[in-house]
Amino acid sequence: MITDDVRERAVALIEDEGLPAFVYDLRTLRSHAAAIREALSVPGAPELYYAAKANAEAPVLRTLAPYVDGIEVASGGELEHVRRVLPDARLAFGGPGKTDPELASILRLGVDRVHVESPYELARLATLARETGREVDVLLRVNLARRRDGVALAMSGPFGMDPEAIEDCRATLAAAPWVRLKGFHAHLASGLEAPGMLRQSEEIVTWARGRFGLTAPEINLGGGMAVDYADPGRLFDWDAYAKGVAELGLPGETLRIEPGRAVSVYCGWYVTDVLDVKRAHGAWYAILRGGTMHLRTPVTKGHDQPFVVIPQGGPGPATDEPVTLVGQLCTPKDVFARTAPAGRIAVGDVVAFAMAGAYAWNISHHDFLMHPKPGFHYLNG
Ligand SMILES: *Cc1c(COP(=O)(O)O)cnc(C)c1O
Repeated sequence: MITDDVRERAVALIEDEGLPAFVYDLRTLRSHAAAIREALSVPGAPELYYAAKANAEAPVLRTLAPYVDGIEVASGGELEHVRRVLPDARLAFGGPGKTDPELASILRLGVDRVHVESPYELARLATLARETGREVDVLLRVNLARRRDGVALAMSGPFGMDPEAIEDCRATLAAAPWVRLKGFHAHLASGLEAPGMLRQSEEIVTWARGRFGLTAPEINLGGGMAVDYADPGRLFDWDAYAKGVAELGLPGETLRIEPGRAVSVYCGWYVTDVLDVKRAHGAWYAILRGGTMHLRTPVTKGHDQPFVVIPQGGPGPATDEPVTLVGQLCTPKDVFARTAPAGRIAVGDVVAFAMAGAYAWNISHHDFLMHPKPGFHYLNG
């Protein structure tokens, strides 16, 4: 749970009028990444790419670099940023709707693998590569249709190609030998626990193996490893998943995964303080400095963001009842957690929201209502 370092910094920030703030404990990130790496050290386990869109802040990327085999980027902006922060990292570029300037950056900045999303995109990449005299290595992204019950987010819709559309890539590849097909990519769902993820990985490997006559294919199994916002201590079972995937692969095949959330979510905290405590229509509310314009995650995912209260013993209003934690926005949607048991919570107390290290600040609508921006603190770098 919360480390002493995060707790101390959170309290110190009251004095400095530095709340709200994101506080990252890079030691937490380092030891978590090391544990994942250790699980993936069994022979035949997949390579590990980190999906930058979860959290691409420079200290996070630098901390992760020694533990990952590469970084997956999903836009021209992420590509330029990650290249700048980690000039030597192996990169994969995915994502729908790649523009011509993005394809040009891919060729110019040197991306190790391009995950191709459509036959048309492949044709454009082939033309641009010919015009600029570059070679490029690609994985074709497949979207295997199936009901994905129980997942947090099924990647249905315009991601990748139906298996039939993949066939339409053959002619382009045959005519453009400077575009080298290395294998296949799939990212089908997010929020899967290890057993479900393993079944899905097997489905992808079975589909990809032998396809297009590749003898030593690379197969990217995607990300989406589950985290549990209701129980932050319950981690994805990396050991079971790594061992299972290791048994799936055949000699010569390269398997790869690209998780984001399950890697970086635990290291970040959104820390703020209580401005008011009051009762309205029978329910207790604690109104916090800041709001979901800084931490949109609980609104988008419809969950209660886990938190700890750090009491400061102020004389203001307080309650011992279950309390709904809200921010300063003028909308009933600005809720971090509903009717949550918080023990005693009082005006002036510090509240630290856990699991704010992924899809937190970077997915939030920062300018709504023009409140001050949070501070950013990176501990134990
Ligand atoms: C978002 C994304 C990921 C990472 O997903 P997580 O749920 O953060 O693990 C990996 N691959 C692709 C293609 C993605 O779009």
